[in-house]
Amino acid sequence: MDEQIQELMSALERKRISCTFAANRTEAAEKVLSMIPADSNVGIGGSVTIQELGIEETLKEKGCEVYWHWRVPKEEADAERRRALTADVYLCSTNAITEDGVLVNIDGTGNRVVSMVYGPKKAVIVTGKNKIVKDVDSALKRIKEVACPLNARRLNRATPCAKTGKCHDCKTEERMCNVTTIIERAPSSIEMHVLIVGEDMGF
Ligand code: SF4
Repeated sequence: MDEQIQELMSALERKRISCTFAANRTEAAEKVLSMIPADSNVGIGGSVTIQELGIEETLKEKGCEVYWHWRVPKEEADAERRRALTADVYLCSTNAITEDGVLVNIDGTGNRVVSMVYGPKKAVIVTGKNKIVKDVDSALKRIKEVACPLNARRLNRATPCAKTGKCHDCKTEERMCNVTTIIERAPSSIEMHVLIVGEDMGF
C-alpha cells in the first residue's frame, strides 16, 4: 500500500468512516462478500466498479436478495431503485475521493447518492485508486471530464461530453449531472465503509 492510500485511510478513520484496503479486485470481492451477512438484502447502485467485482451471483447463492436496477426491465427500474434504498446493505462506488477523505458524487437520477448517505443500514463503497484526487475541485473536474463522458458513452447518451470528453454544462434531457453530493464525514444514520482497491476500477 502506498503512502497516499495510507494517509487517505487515516483521514477516513478520523471522519468515522471505517475503511479497508484490497490489493486487487479479487481480494476486494472477497472482502466485500465477507462484510455482507447471508440472507441480507443488498441494493446495488449504478456502478461499473461493482459490476467488475462480479459478486452478484455469489451474493444470491449465499442467500442474499439483490436489488439492482441494471438487471431489471426499464419499466421496473424505479421500483428496484426504491427497494435498494431501504436495503440492509448498499453497494456502490464513488465518482471521486479526495486525499483527505471527502467523497464526491454526481448523479442523474439521484438514487445512488441518496442511498450512500441515508436509507440502507450500511453503505459499502468500493473505489479503485484511479478515483483518488487532490481536493474537491479536482474531484468535480474528474467527474465532469472522465466519469461522466465515459458513462455517457456507455449508456449511449447524446450529451456533448460523450463526443468531446469535456463538460459543456449541457441543458439537454440527456444530462447526467443533476445531483451533486459531497460527503465530508460519516452521516449519523448509516454505517459507512470505504474499501480502497490498489488498482484501477470503473471510471
Ligand atoms: S453537464 Fe452535461 S456535458 Fe457536462 S458532464 Fe454533465 S452530462 Fe456531460
